[in-house]
Amino acid sequence: MTRNLQRYDVVLVGGGVTGLMASHKLARLGLRLLLLEKQPTLASGPSTRNEGWLHRGSYHAGSVKDRQAAVQVARRCIYGHEQIRAFAPEAVEDADRPPMVLVRDADRLQELVSRWDEAGVSYRPLTKAQASARFPSADLTRASEVFEVADVSINTRMLYRKLLTSAQQGGAEVLTGARLEHVRGSEATVVMADGSTLQLESRLFVYSTGFGARDLFRQFFELELPIRYWKSHLVVVPRLGGHGLFYVDPHEAAMMHHGDYSVVGLNEDALLCANPDYLVVPERADNLHRALERLVPGWKNAGTYSDVACTKVDFAPDATSARSLNIAIHEPVPGHICILPGKMTEAPFLTDVLTARLYERLEDGLIAKRPCDVLHASLASVAREAHHAA
Ligand SMILES: Cc1cc2nc3c(=O)[nH]c(=O)nc-3n(C[C@H](O)[C@H](O)[C@H](O)COP(=O)(O)OP(=O)(O)OC[C@H]3O[C@@H](n4cnc5c(N)ncnc54)[C@H](O)[C@@H]3O)c2cc1C
Repeated sequence: MTRNLQRYDVVLVGGGVTGLMASHKLARLGLRLLLLEKQPTLASGPSTRNEGWLHRGSYHAGSVKDRQAAVQVARRCIYGHEQIRAFAPEAVEDADRPPMVLVRDADRLQELVSRWDEAGVSYRPLTKAQASARFPSADLTRASEVFEVADVSINTRMLYRKLLTSAQQGGAEVLTGARLEHVRGSEATVVMADGSTLQLESRLFVYSTGFGARDLFRQFFELELPIRYWKSHLVVVPRLGGHGLFYVDPHEAAMMHHGDYSVVGLNEDALLCANPDYLVVPERADNLHRALERLVPGWKNAGTYSDVACTKVDFAPDATSARSLNIAIHEPVPGHICILPGKMTEAPFLTDVLTARLYERLEDGLIAKRPCDVLHASLASVAREAHHAA
């Protein structure tokens, strides 16, 4: 069965955190919106397979090499952190148990604290005795300094449910089990899980498809997006302590908790892969286990654990460029925009920038123009005339 042609202002393809956050924001601007997710459930990829760490700049201010980039990433994380906490306070876990940062290499300390100050990261020094009291089974002997910070764990499922409800209340249509099959200009065909098809037309298409973007642009536009895949691992283990605990130094463990479980990652565990998948690479998982053993000796005694692999994605200006943790908005084909958040925590920043840009293109004239809009329109018209005359 084919449904008659449906018309939208924006079709968002991909219902992970980025697509859900963008739907929530765009729907509130009164745009006719459709969110398509090919899986039967929303956010079934990296958006729920991640560590559920709502960053607040403390980690990335230190881990990103370039100081300016590090401060920028930290500020975007603070922006996203504050926005998500205000939107879904009930999804914040252990709000009364702030995590602790460990600094292994003393020579990093001065630069780290100065970056924290510049970015506006909240931190408070702790003595090792205070830190040990909060996490008795942790081995803190390798840490030169310990701080309390304002990062939190977030229940991503609850956050996404609220974003979905808000988008639907704002009028967004949401279809799961809906695969974008064919795109031509402003028209597209969607195939549903039951085999029925939907013909649609949209002024803009936004691809929030995470690592799916490369295949879609290949299929629809014969374009190679400069996208790279980086595999990382996590281990899920029965809860190991009261407070989150993470190093800022490379190749050390970072642990956040969700209810009865701890989820632990390895700093800078990023294996460049030709294709994205969820297969665990045993040597990489072992590296993580060893880092966790250094942090919480005997952690395996806590009970059965589970290794998880997942893929991050970035845009690479060239093959040799460093892995980027930045947000990305690209429009390689007019009217078809690809977006990547870097991190879940940066999704609010990314989608606010996107929403502002789309509003400029899609606004319906019901709100009066400001003097700067009038000037902009007249300068654009002069530029167009000059272009035609040339
Ligand atoms: C191991 C790991 C740990 C991480 N930990 C954290 C963390 O603790 N904190 C943090 O802030 N960030 C973290 N991140 C990063 C974060 O998870 C990602 O940046 C974020 O989830 C990306 O969201 P997304 O919506 O852009 O993409 P995705 O989550 O990949 O969602 C894309 C969606 O698009 C759908 N899709 C794909 N193709 C199509 C199509 N053709 N039609 C329709 N739908 C389609 C997919 O099914 C999927 O649901 C982590 C990442 C990894 C890999």
